[in-house]
Amino acid sequence: MKPKERLAIPRQHPTELKPEERITNFDEVVFGFDDETAIKEANRCLQCKKPACRNGCPIHNDIPGFIRLLREKKFEEGYWKDRETNSIPAVCSRVCPHEFQCEGACIRGKKGDPVAIGMLERFLVDWMVANKKNMLKPCAMPKGKKVAIVGSGPAGMTCAFELAHAGYHCTIFESLPAFGGMLTVGIPAYRLPRDIINAEFDALVNCGVEIVNNITIGKEKAISQLKEEGYEAVFVGIGAHSSRKLGIEGEDLEGVMHGVDYLRRVNLGESLNLGPNVVVVGGGNVAIDVARTALRTGSDKVFILYRRTKKEMPASQAEIHHLEEEGVKVEFLAAPVKIHGENGRLTKIECIRMELGECDASGRCRPVPITDSNFMIEADAIIPAISQDVAHMPESEIKLDLSRWNTFEVDEITMQTSVDWIFAGGDAVLGPQTAAKAAYQGKEAAESIIRYLEGRDLREGRVPEPEETEEKEK
Ligand SMILES: Cc1cc2nc3c(=O)[nH]c(=O)nc-3n(C[C@H](O)[C@H](O)[C@H](O)COP(=O)(O)OP(=O)(O)OC[C@H]3O[C@@H](n4cnc5c(N)ncnc54)[C@H](O)[C@@H]3O)c2cc1C
Repeated sequence: MKPKERLAIPRQHPTELKPEERITNFDEVVFGFDDETAIKEANRCLQCKKPACRNGCPIHNDIPGFIRLLREKKFEEGYWKDRETNSIPAVCSRVCPHEFQCEGACIRGKKGDPVAIGMLERFLVDWMVANKKNMLKPCAMPKGKKVAIVGSGPAGMTCAFELAHAGYHCTIFESLPAFGGMLTVGIPAYRLPRDIINAEFDALVNCGVEIVNNITIGKEKAISQLKEEGYEAVFVGIGAHSSRKLGIEGEDLEGVMHGVDYLRRVNLGESLNLGPNVVVVGGGNVAIDVARTALRTGSDKVFILYRRTKKEMPASQAEIHHLEEEGVKVEFLAAPVKIHGENGRLTKIECIRMELGECDASGRCRPVPITDSNFMIEADAIIPAISQDVAHMPESEIKLDLSRWNTFEVDEITMQTSVDWIFAGGDAVLGPQTAAKAAYQGKEAAESIIRYLEGRDLREGRVPEPEETEEKEK
């Protein structure tokens, strides 16, 4: 096919559950491509000599490589090409914010629509599942050394996966009754079906990884105790699970629940109806997931307050589109200033209108309140979803150095903390970020742990990732 012909193919779009159908349940909203659509989309790829998409991918997957195999109908080979770098492709293909990563970098996006890389990656995974192919990598011979992993999110999962496949025995300690971190207790099932996460864990267990739930390291077991029990290194991937507060009057009234706390309870199976009128505060993925979950658990009117405009919303365009289709209204340029209540329960939210003021170097403008523009909204529940901080291990007798954002300070290449046998990665180091970035750090930490256990230089031949200028707010 000539480049001109490739350029003439329009981007293919997946089919989706209809909004009125999907808000009654947690079924997956987006359907995968069929063979014909996937090949057509794959034919849009220009196979760039210096593929920008690969740099845009936090794990640096060989995207042109798997797309080339896909369009040659070598679906199984395509899957394994992707798997060379990505230990959780089923997860990444569904939840990565592709428009800010690989697809955001795709050269075709400069004059039109980028290649639908996420959907192509998902096609390969779904094809393997549908055709009952073996998706397990062969396990390595045991090396007789063991490593403890604290936290079962994508950082911990990836670290365990890499170590187990290098022959090290890993035990994952997880404080919750479920495994998967925010993939399970944050992201709702209509975006990431639970059998996908379960399959990733089956792959870990297959290579001897032990998973121990309901144990909080630093509480039921000290981190130093792990060392005494023979774990020669520890990886800390505890994420960022502490909801940031609005810091306004009335935040402790009944009816106020913070975003990740609400999602955790629903995702762990609690039946929670917030009442007919729900207000969510924030503009990121968490706020959108809260709003869409509230609809699915029986609330009638859900709307979001966001202090900037649609253009600045950190959530992905697809998520914003789904939100609007499902009937959630977003009140832009508005922020809550006080929560009013009666008898200890919230009744109304006092808000203020904002305007955009000075912009920073990245072009992001500061929201400024407009004097005397206050207005009231009646609500049964308000869910602030404005970001998360790291909830540190309680009573940890080993003090690890922390950054000014209260995240773990690590060596930027090796992920080693201030204590030589403890490594850290994911949201606990980066602040709230993405599954792929967490997975990448888990993988880098695994490489360092292997070198540490083998007495090799941790840094030799490795370079740091280019610095990001992205804002911390999510
Ligand atoms: C609602 C929501 C939606 C999101 N949507 C997306 C998305 O669409 N795409 C995307 O890429 N990313 C998304 N993210 C972000 C993504 O989920 C995280 O960046 C990623 O999960 C971080 O991985 P992690 O392994 O660092 O931490 P986590 O996934 O947070 O896992 C940490 C684990 O450690 C456990 N833990 C904590 N303390 C201890 C302790 N002391 N002892 C034992 N266990 C402990 C926790 O219970 C948790 O299971 C979303 C996040 C949320 C909250």
